[in-house]
Amino acid sequence: MRIILFGPPGAGKGTQAKLIQEKYGIPQLSTGEMFRAAIKNETDLGKRVKSIMESGELVPDQTVVDLVAETLIDPKYDNGYILDGFPRTIAQAEAFDRILEENGNELDTFISLEVEDDELIKRIMARGEGRSDDTPEKVKVRLEVYNNETAPVKNYYEQQGKLSIVNGLGSIDEIFERLTSLLDNL
Ligand code: ADP
Repeated sequence: MRIILFGPPGAGKGTQAKLIQEKYGIPQLSTGEMFRAAIKNETDLGKRVKSIMESGELVPDQTVVDLVAETLIDPKYDNGYILDGFPRTIAQAEAFDRILEENGNELDTFISLEVEDDELIKRIMARGEGRSDDTPEKVKVRLEVYNNETAPVKNYYEQQGKLSIVNGLGSIDEIFERLTSLLDNL
């Protein structure tokens, strides 16, 4: 099963992706987590993306696409995966389509986890993970970037007939229940 879990910052993608990973035994691939790990380990990639990530802007498409392509070579992704935080621009979505095609694979579904802006800001401020991009100013930038650059990605997959919409309001369990009933009926 190959799934994209899509949604604005604070929608709960990471939380739900981990639950899906556990239940269905398919690995989660989170570009944001990979960048945070690279920064923490002070790798070359980490050094290149640190200031961009901290500003709340997007890492350049080529950097992200190269990272995803290299990561997916690992045989652990052969039976499927759940993408969280990627693709985030139309150019990334197009590049991902080429990666799928080269590997003879297809995407099963693109799930849009939907939560309104007021609730997102509340959640991010409450989560207290100590992320340097979780301050009110950076969250504002991230939401703007999301609305301008990332939201159009949903239409891209809608045109491919792959879009599923899931209400992201409610408890973690309630939302997971909505996701599993969708995935179990694919
Ligand atoms: P959130 O969804 O809460 O913003 P993420 O962990 O997905 O958190 O992303 C954090 C940051 O990592 C983004 O603001 C961006 O700078 C960078 N990033 C993650 N994924 C991508 C991507 N696909 N394209 C560009 N930048 C990305």
